[in-house]
Amino acid sequence: MTSPRIPGARFLHAPGPTRIPDEVLDAMHRQSIDLADPRLDVLIQDCERGMQQVVDTAKGEVYLYSANGHGAWEVAIVNILAEGDLVLIPSTGHFSESWAQQTEALDRRVLQTAWKPGYPIDPNEVESMLRKDREGQIRAVFVVQTDTSTGITSDVEAIRQAIDASGHPALYVVDVVSSLAAAPFAMDRMGVNLVVGGSQKGLMLPPGMGFVVVDEHANQASLDNPSPKYYWDWTKRTGTHAYRKFCGTPPLQMLMGLRAALALLLQEGLDEVLRRHKRLAHAVFAAVEAWSSAGAVGFFCRDPQARSVSVTAVTLEGHDPELLRAVARERFQVAMSGGLGPLAGRVFRIGHLGDMNEPTILGALAGIEAAMLHLGIPIGREALPRAIDALATAARGSNG
Ligand SMILES: *Cc1c(COP(=O)(O)O)cnc(C)c1O
Repeated sequence: MTSPRIPGARFLHAPGPTRIPDEVLDAMHRQSIDLADPRLDVLIQDCERGMQQVVDTAKGEVYLYSANGHGAWEVAIVNILAEGDLVLIPSTGHFSESWAQQTEALDRRVLQTAWKPGYPIDPNEVESMLRKDREGQIRAVFVVQTDTSTGITSDVEAIRQAIDASGHPALYVVDVVSSLAAAPFAMDRMGVNLVVGGSQKGLMLPPGMGFVVVDEHANQASLDNPSPKYYWDWTKRTGTHAYRKFCGTPPLQMLMGLRAALALLLQEGLDEVLRRHKRLAHAVFAAVEAWSSAGAVGFFCRDPQARSVSVTAVTLEGHDPELLRAVARERFQVAMSGGLGPLAGRVFRIGHLGDMNEPTILGALAGIEAAMLHLGIPIGREALPRAIDALATAARGSNG
């Protein structure tokens, strides 16, 4: 049995997996090559160089893994921390919590800050927790730049300054899974020792590849780490031999896709990629603000400065967000995400990350509005005009 064809485009507005550009799909539709083919070495080098540009580092070493974001989390845990070591993971929501659980399951110890729903990480709290650690037990601080479950982005630079102000030698590890190639990030300038990411969000690839970018301090921590590690051990992945670099066969077609995705980002220009995300996000914010005037929906994020340019978590009172998602997806062809962890059944999430432009955002907002009206959810009706105004104003600004 085949389902009937649905005419027109179906809109994917989850914050991951995101839409895959045609150029990336085309680049992946290629035959495998043998592992001694010199084209493979060029492919890997192109991917590594492009990744260095996207995370903005001159010397950080890029390691690519056949894994999802959870795999990349494990790379950070087992390279940086020995069993019994302590790590500070400031609470941001579902993703900091999941990373903490995975860390504890691997017999490392975790210190967390209290979760303040609706707000980003407070750098002062990081500073004071590090100051209290007089014996220097905390090995690292693991920060999620954008907690995809809340739509809140924390200030990576301010947290670096807090670590410096405390005088604590902890390594600074940042999860950019849902913020890279969307929100500003610069590994070297922001003093990040280890960057952790995945393929299926801002990088516009299919799920299935994780990566880390490692500076010399993080690398030394891995070399000094006495705990056993093998597949995830980046210190074994050095040199130019592709089979060794990937601890086995490289994910050839994912690398072909990554090279194409990086080329798209670099052709558009990374600054323009960030500006586009900001423009589109502001259209979504304008729409959510307008919808919220009738009281049933609102921003989960309580600090407008901390709203993510990748994803907006929208609270919904008196109605079931899962039903709204189903109607939006099945009746209006707009797929969104739901609430995770403590926000399950309380929010829906609009992804505005990756391969998107003005009409896709407006189409998505219109489809979501139609679904809310269909379900009788009370909303302000100025959302689309406000979103259109925001985009038109931004376009005037960029034309000088
Ligand atoms: C999606 C996501 C992850 C986990 O990635 P998976 O590929 O689903 O394992 C980790 N951190 C953040 C911030 C994410 O958005």
